[in-house]
Amino acid sequence: MKDLKAIEYWLSDMDGVLVHEGVPIPGADAFLSKVVSSGRRLLVLTNNSLYTPRDLSARLAAAGLDVRPEWIWTSALATAQFLADQRPHGSAYVIGEAGLTTALHGVDYILSDLNPDYVVLGETRNYSFDQITRAVRLIERGARFICTNPDPVGPSQEGSLPACGAVAAMITRATGVAPYFVGKPNPLMMRSALRRMGGHSESAAMIGDRMDTDVVSGMEAGMETVLVLSGVTRRHEIERFPYRPSRVFDSVADLVEMVE
Ligand SMILES: [Mg+2]
Repeated sequence: MKDLKAIEYWLSDMDGVLVHEGVPIPGADAFLSKVVSSGRRLLVLTNNSLYTPRDLSARLAAAGLDVRPEWIWTSALATAQFLADQRPHGSAYVIGEAGLTTALHGVDYILSDLNPDYVVLGETRNYSFDQITRAVRLIERGARFICTNPDPVGPSQEGSLPACGAVAAMITRATGVAPYFVGKPNPLMMRSALRRMGGHSESAAMIGDRMDTDVVSGMEAGMETVLVLSGVTRRHEIERFPYRPSRVFDSVADLVEMVE
């Protein structure tokens, strides 16, 4: 285990670590300002592909957290980066919101339903049966199937919402074609984030509230992993997993002291 003072690149999950349903987690603001004032690099990660970094930065500001757009890395950005690396200047039929379409335009992708290279599925607030039908037909005709994140449900104030992974399962059932998921727990999300920061895994740490996404992908990307118990995973559940985090804390408030 490394001394956390040696960590130069801090990657942090957003929901359950810094905020919970729009409310900041106590200590999150102190942690963020400590990382920034100590000259360390920060990137906040989210599997949510709905929003652009500017939108997310504004939402975090409304919750009292100062996170600049350039410190945010979404599954939509990771997906766009992945596609640009794999097939530069390609085309995609997109089911998603501004977070995803803006990211794809940003890597010079054309959004089209005429023979696209890819069908790209992200989160939306209103999945339409027409869009799903179109995606099914394009995949049947050879479009490659990409999904921003595998999460089956997302939270809302009224209760669970079916999410990207659940809709992907429907398209897979109809076509027999499984998507490639870019977001966590794919370590690609961590590696692309590190590349964005210009950092190396040996001096990076990933903070998350979930063993099955944040900790496993941080570990597979070769980083120190910090589990905080302010979100999904409970302390008694940790030992059930075949992998362990490097450290466990109640919340990011306990990490403020660990950053020099
Ligand atoms: Mg989380």
